Amino acid sequence: MSVLIDSHCHLDASEFDPDRDAVVARAQAAGVQALVVPAVTAASWPKLRQVCQQAPGLYPAYGLHPMFLATHRPAHLQQLRAWIERERPCAIGECGLDYFVGDLDVQAQQDYFLGQLQLAREFDLPVIVHARKAVDAVIAAIRRIGGLRGVVHSFSGSPEQAVQLHKQGFLLGLGGPLTHERAQRLHRLVRDMPLEQLLLETDAPDQPDAGIRGQRNEPARLAIIARHVAALRGLEVDAVAWATADNARRLFNLPEV
Ligand code: ZN
Repeated sequence: MSVLIDSHCHLDASEFDPDRDAVVARAQAAGVQALVVPAVTAASWPKLRQVCQQAPGLYPAYGLHPMFLATHRPAHLQQLRAWIERERPCAIGECGLDYFVGDLDVQAQQDYFLGQLQLAREFDLPVIVHARKAVDAVIAAIRRIGGLRGVVHSFSGSPEQAVQLHKQGFLLGLGGPLTHERAQRLHRLVRDMPLEQLLLETDAPDQPDAGIRGQRNEPARLAIIARHVAALRGLEVDAVAWATADNARRLFNLPEV
């Protein structure tokens, strides 16, 4: 069995409230040895912290997700600083820009994103970035702050954007979308990008793979993602698991198990 790390899983989501322990047990049984759990709102941080204390191998990240813009307040950035100082998380996030959801104010999104990038730089932490229809704007923000590292999760940009991100110290998170037969562009990207730039993720409970379309996703499905990446690259699944887990361990400074 391969050793895997789920670099992006919303284990604190209410969808997992009825059976979270069983979800974690299935992930462990599938070889998922560590999970990075990014936050979405300031109100979610205490629960997320508590969820991550329930089992070994669960690593919280704290941040303000752009899709929840309506609930964010400028004071939350100050609260985030206090949380980071006290909790010493493995990353800041989920933060970023979403230009797909039409009614989210672009300037306000930018302000929260830049504020979180500044904290990441100050605390020397990686950032977990959400970029939907906004990869160029994300790259511009990353360049503007400078000296950062992180991951653009569920990457769906171009090869050129992937190269630019690599130069800025950013990895690409790959998950459910690449298991769909019609995701030709994503398949090409998975084949062509250097293995050291890739992280595996489920984004559970969202982004189910093609085998569980329309259902709740869960971290045990990471093994399916690893198999798809291995098939696309013509590698053994163990090689993909080992390399991507190593990438995640280095980016998030996770302990060897
Ligand atoms: Zn997410």
